[in-house]
Amino acid sequence: MRKPMVAGNWKLNGNRASSAALVDALMSADIAGVDVLICPPLVYLAELIARASAGGLGFGSQDVDLHAEGAFTGEISAAMLRDVGATACIVGHSERRQYHAESSRLVADKTRVAAAAGLQPIVCVGETLEEREAGRTEWVLQQQIAPLLEDLGGLDGIVLAYEPVWAIGTGKTASAAQAQEVHAWLRSEFRAVNAKMADSLVILYGGSVKPSNAADIFAQRDIDGGLIGGASLVVADFLAIVAAAKPL
Ligand code: PEP
Repeated sequence: MRKPMVAGNWKLNGNRASSAALVDALMSADIAGVDVLICPPLVYLAELIARASAGGLGFGSQDVDLHAEGAFTGEISAAMLRDVGATACIVGHSERRQYHAESSRLVADKTRVAAAAGLQPIVCVGETLEEREAGRTEWVLQQQIAPLLEDLGGLDGIVLAYEPVWAIGTGKTASAAQAQEVHAWLRSEFRAVNAKMADSLVILYGGSVKPSNAADIFAQRDIDGGLIGGASLVVADFLAIVAAAKPL
């Protein structure tokens, strides 16, 4: 039985006061039965973790560096994230792949480094609209997960997030059936390598999830929750999405 997860990716949004207010509101909500994770801008992460110490919220980063330490200006290590109490990190978000030229090899390497340091990596994969329309969705996803599948040792607790690029921040959502089809396929790719891990692998859907479509999407058998961008910045919307993920 996989526990549902809803993760909020705040990206480059908000400020110190709005971030604190958002966390305070989430802390007073009933989130039992769902792993709720917040990934705020890095500069606020430690402060928010300390602020929420009494609650059941988890906190993660939006990226992590490959290196443990050294001359890597601007970067943050997995150990530093652990040091301030983070439990997870997003890796390979399509915006990192697009704007920072992150390859699937780098994403897999970051995943291994983060997992080894005790963080739960949330690994994002997804195709563009052109790739989907050309019938290349599975091929693209296969390229993205191949470096992970090469060696699943130590990756037991990772989370996968299927985020079709054409649905991120566009208001366009994959239909529940479209998302389920891809999730089932992703799980089968992992099953071919490690059946036990595949059964426990949490696979989130991301891409314009909102209160009006969350229940339908989360009801699919291979969809274990969501990675939420825009709607995670609106307390009522995010909590409605969390409620939709609760087990019946
Ligand atoms: C995301 O960026 O991971 C995301 C899913 O964004 P949105 O919910 O805004 O589409």
